[in-house]
Amino acid sequence: MMARAPQLHEMKSLTLLGSTGSIGGNTLDVVRHNSDLYRIHALAAGNNVAAILKQIIEFRPDVAVLATSRAIDLLATALADSALPRSNWPELVSGPAALVEVATAPSVDMVISAIVGIAGLEATYEAVRLGKRVGLANKEVLVSGGRLVMDAVAQSGAQLLPIDSEHNGVHQCLRAGNRDQVTKLILTASGGPFRNTSQHEMESVTPAQALNHPTWKMGQRITIDCATLMNKGFEVIEACWLFDFAPTQVEVVIHPQSTVHAMIEYSDGSVLAQVSATDMRMPIQYALTWPERWQASVPKIDWTQARHWDFAPPDFHRFPLLKLAYQCQEAGGSATCTLNAADEVAVEAFLKGEIGFPGIAAVVEQTLGRMPNRQPRTVGDILEIDKESRFMARELVARQPAALPVPARV
Ligand code: NAD
Ligand code: MG
Repeated sequence: MMARAPQLHEMKSLTLLGSTGSIGGNTLDVVRHNSDLYRIHALAAGNNVAAILKQIIEFRPDVAVLATSRAIDLLATALADSALPRSNWPELVSGPAALVEVATAPSVDMVISAIVGIAGLEATYEAVRLGKRVGLANKEVLVSGGRLVMDAVAQSGAQLLPIDSEHNGVHQCLRAGNRDQVTKLILTASGGPFRNTSQHEMESVTPAQALNHPTWKMGQRITIDCATLMNKGFEVIEACWLFDFAPTQVEVVIHPQSTVHAMIEYSDGSVLAQVSATDMRMPIQYALTWPERWQASVPKIDWTQARHWDFAPPDFHRFPLLKLAYQCQEAGGSATCTLNAADEVAVEAFLKGEIGFPGIAAVVEQTLGRMPNRQPRTVGDILEIDKESRFMARELVARQPAALPVPARV
């Protein structure tokens, strides 16, 4: 068998924030295949007791964190009913302070940040501040707190490795040349399920249609964000922070096959692309092993099959949230934090049938128009702006026209 990694590796200790999610499950699969190289210090998740129980039994972490004490009580009951002897139980803790604790524990070498939304901000920030190596999936961390987090990276020297596939692709491409000779980053977007849907038809699309992503299987929030292209807008912001580019230097191109993840253009006009299967275990393993590459059980592209790749510019008119993301990043300050908060509220409202699909962009735009722009200086400032923006967005949800009834089938 081919050696997976050089001999000198010490066992590394990992905290996984968001273990029961889509990225969390993929991360555990990578760890499962490299169990001699990574051990789990802590698993942290929201409220999914059944899922974390299975993970505890397989990965035997030192600590398990859930969002509420009620969920932890349920987990303790489930553990008592399981075959795992009490002496092998992890420490059971709950709440935001526990997330910070497991992300900053001295024994932890690396943190995977894969909680969805702003709930992941503080623990990720504190890990960065301590100079931990962080694999970043949670893009909302940089969308809402980009300046704060990147200042902390600069101060602590933390390695912040992107797991979002496009940014992971950029990270790989940037290894080919000098950063100051790069003129442009190009992020690809699948275009989502409504790539070819007319503006009129988009008025009556349902949550089920919007959740039907053509190429990736992910959590609900990010899947709806792909359908509105808000996700790509967040990724533009994320790219600006991660790689220190202006929004005008980050371009989005629709590429329905999702095989080219990102490209970079050098000053001489040469363009490099990162290409791999649509499988998040690739960028996750890259973050775990960088600067090395190990063998992975990820599908390889079969070049014996005929294939074609399409590229087209995005339609800013049908997908106004993409444009809004550029404008918010240009504006700076708290605009992108409000953008994220309002979008999260609007997506929830759409999924509950309270507003129609175009209502998502309307709520976000109106919230931005009503919230003053400030310069957040602490995580507390960001959480406060996030809270106020959500409050405003919820008020605006109530003022939107109700979702159109689903058209009867003929
Ligand atoms: P998901 O909804 O599948 O999982 C989210 C995880 O966060 C779950 O484990 C959930 O229990 C946990 N969580 C939620 N609220 C919590 C709280 N208050 N405290 C502790 N844990 C909490 O989401 P996902 O698709 O895995 O995405 C996770 C993050 O990664 C998102 O920010 C997303 O934008 C980003 N991302 C995901 C993908 C993907 O392929 N899924 C790709 C790129 C980036
Ligand atoms: Mg992405």
